[in-house]
Amino acid sequence: MRNFKGIDRCIFGKGTFSQLGDILDKRRQVATDFAVILVDKVFEAKELGQRARQVAKAQDLLIFVNVSDYEPKTEQIDQIVSQIKAFAPALPVSVVGIGGGSIMDIAKATSLMLTNPGKSEQYQGLDLIKIPGVHCTVVPTLAGTGAEVSMTAVLTGPVKKLGLKCDYTVPDQVLLDPDIIRDAPEEQRFYTAMDCYIHAVEALDGSKRNTFSDAYGQKSLEMCQEVFLGDLSREEADEKLMIASYLGGLSLTYSQVGVCHALSYGLSYVLGTRHGEANCIVFYHLQDYYGKYVLEFREMLKKHHITLRQGITRHLSEADMEKMVDVAYALDHMWDHAFGPDWKSIMTRDKIKALYQLM
Ligand code: NAD
Ligand code: ZN
Repeated sequence: MRNFKGIDRCIFGKGTFSQLGDILDKRRQVATDFAVILVDKVFEAKELGQRARQVAKAQDLLIFVNVSDYEPKTEQIDQIVSQIKAFAPALPVSVVGIGGGSIMDIAKATSLMLTNPGKSEQYQGLDLIKIPGVHCTVVPTLAGTGAEVSMTAVLTGPVKKLGLKCDYTVPDQVLLDPDIIRDAPEEQRFYTAMDCYIHAVEALDGSKRNTFSDAYGQKSLEMCQEVFLGDLSREEADEKLMIASYLGGLSLTYSQVGVCHALSYGLSYVLGTRHGEANCIVFYHLQDYYGKYVLEFREMLKKHHITLRQGITRHLSEADMEKMVDVAYALDHMWDHAFGPDWKSIMTRDKIKALYQLM
């Protein structure tokens, strides 16, 4: 079994964002030591943006990054790395990412690409990064992806959507402050949280599952159920959601995602549908594979008044549909987990296409 690397340090609790400045200061040795702070542009004119400006010292580089139009791209990472190298010849003491899965992945990939030569698209795959990146700190503003603990930074490149996946990708420091996810828009909060629910369902059902991943997956699933079907206060729910996301990420480190993620990657690649929403659109149609969990998911949709988009593949050209099937079919490790090494006899290109046609 793989000898996985875990998170070095984690702070959890309401109000802990105020400790970010201290964390960075402890890493500074001389007056010119600088940090790079990447913040989701959605916060530029909000209180969190202001708080990030207060954390940044005069010598730091603070960049508000737009992730609203599309998911992180390899060329976006290359551009940020060039900007940092033009800013200072030395390496930063930490690359901080304040945002959802997109910004956390951008921070993780940037930290790696500051020390590894070439373009980030060269490193899309498993263990292609050879040199450890610089220290990386992540602060989630949405809960669900598990990107705050995972060993991958998912990027869309010129030919594929695939992560820079290796031990060096795991962030060094995580700061989980439930106050920060409080004001997320309801729909986005739901979609990202369902990513966590689906991670748990998929990790718990497949050939790669084991006692270690099951323990995290079961607890994560149970917490999602409490949050979306129980009667918790918003404050309790946000705390649980942050930990469910964390545990879901850990569960995946030793298990794998399955049918929903394979199909969802195809949707996102061709249509640009964001990960959480794409997962929800796909999962709705997977009753044959994830039975009672799909029914439970539909109950959560209803309870939270979320209406999923329908017919998004209806007007796709034949070429785009084929590309979508190509992207999904190529995710061998996910199908292998879902159906075992003989998966091609169970999941055919025609079946994948038929599922896409339902969406
Ligand atoms: P996201 O980071 O893509 O953000 C979604 C939208 O919400 C964006 O428009 C963003 O600006 C906005 N937003 C974020 N936080 C907000 C807040 N508190 N208030 C208002 N708006 C806010 O969403 P996500 O679902 O967290 O992340 C999805 C990304 O994570 C995808 O790129 C996916 O591929 C990646 N992902 C990575 C992993 C991993 O292990 N690395 C796992 C799952 C998903
Ligand atoms: Zn996911």
